[in-house]
Amino acid sequence: MRKNIVAGNWKMNTTLQEGVALANEIKEALNGVETKCDVVIATPFTHLVSVVAAVEGTSIGVGAENCADKTEGAFTGEVSAKMVASTGAQYVILGHSERRAYYHETPEVLKEKVLLALENNLTPIFCVGEVLAEREAGEHFNVVAAQVKESLFNLTADEFSKIVIAYEPVWAIGTGKTATADQAQEIHAFIRQTIAEKYGNEVADNTSILYGGSCKPSNAGELFAKPDVDGGLIGGAALKADSFLGIITAF
Ligand code: PEP
Repeated sequence: MRKNIVAGNWKMNTTLQEGVALANEIKEALNGVETKCDVVIATPFTHLVSVVAAVEGTSIGVGAENCADKTEGAFTGEVSAKMVASTGAQYVILGHSERRAYYHETPEVLKEKVLLALENNLTPIFCVGEVLAEREAGEHFNVVAAQVKESLFNLTADEFSKIVIAYEPVWAIGTGKTATADQAQEIHAFIRQTIAEKYGNEVADNTSILYGGSCKPSNAGELFAKPDVDGGLIGGAALKADSFLGIITAF
């Protein structure tokens, strides 16, 4: 059966020292707490080695927020999936709307990144989601289905079964506006149905689909209670141990 997951996305926040202190706070906050979900923290590349060391011996997973679409070589400033894996990290966020919008990541580029992540035994947390104009035009189902199909439907069923999806309506990210639990359920069920049509019910039922977009302790319980919402990808509220813990314990 699929896993519940709460993953923090730190984005471009915290110095190395602040990040390690935050990881330690999260570790301490979780000490002795029985969680009903896996916990992941995704950090800037510079923090990975130290955060992996900070959470060693716990069940907290660590991830990067991106990786390159190339294996190695003359790509100044890029960080490969193999490099990410070599830090001890186990996850990588791919296709975040900020990467798509500000760094022009295309479905084709994301397809390469997903393959390289899988080749290096990283679990991709693959983000999809519509912008406000698309939702208002009733296009959100088409947009999200296309994002899933264009970057992931080249995978074998075995490869696809290693993917975690995060549905993140762009209009809800960092805006304080959350999708209602019913809106989240509706589109999560649609994503699962889209996966089932390609890979069958078993793969679809085993795929964790997280919600992201202004998730906080006060709304996480209602979102996570929905049958197709398997946890959250958390931005702002993951930068404070107490609010992150409040979301983790909302199951
Ligand atoms: C995100 O960027 O993945 C996110 C969900 O951000 P926030 O929780 O701040 O809306």
